[in-house]
Amino acid sequence: MGESMNKRILLVEDEPGLVLTLTDRLRSEGYTLEYASDGVEGFERATRETFDLLILDLMLPYKSGLDLCRDLRQRGVLTPVLILTALGQMTDKVVGLKLGADDYVTKPFEMPELLARVEALLRRATVVTPPSNIYQFGTVRVDFQQALVERDGQMIDLSTLEFRLLEYFIHNRGLTLPRDELLNEVWGYNAIVSTRTVDVHIAWLRQKLETHPRHPRYILTVHGTGYKFAG
Ligand code: CA
Repeated sequence: MGESMNKRILLVEDEPGLVLTLTDRLRSEGYTLEYASDGVEGFERATRETFDLLILDLMLPYKSGLDLCRDLRQRGVLTPVLILTALGQMTDKVVGLKLGADDYVTKPFEMPELLARVEALLRRATVVTPPSNIYQFGTVRVDFQQALVERDGQMIDLSTLEFRLLEYFIHNRGLTLPRDELLNEVWGYNAIVSTRTVDVHIAWLRQKLETHPRHPRYILTVHGTGYKFAG
């Protein structure tokens, strides 16, 4: 029991009865148990706080367990995920595993089975400590904590400015970012540089990160406006 003492689990489940049963039992095993009752709250907590394991129900208000799992993985949250699925949701199980879940338990489940799976996932996670603050797109891996970028397993040498530019792109992925905004946010309001400077740095960044810099897949040009990150 000693090992479970400092493990934090987030349960995202909307059935009050099941929340009660699970929290009681897992707490009595020595785990620290937190819970969220819908998918949106679950996403907020799982991205803002650190957990050792996430237990997600599939049918949740606002955001399903599958969407939640996918969004968390896209955000770079690598916490192990155990999915609770109802009988007959076979397709959901398969989809869940594809979207980055690590295991699932079918409802109604026997408590010993659930506990065994929880333990197994926590053990696995202890061996391979999930890196925090990592973002991955294609074969590029960005470590924000250490400010390191790898592509195909090779370290990529980025200038501080290039790294900040990439960071800004990742935090605002999917949004069209005008050159002016990039200048203000990355170079700073007082920088005396022209928007042309942005284009030059984008070209360098593409050279370093894109497989085909002339036909970029991630750092896209939005004609007449600016750029958009699609990683
Ligand atoms: Ca439910």
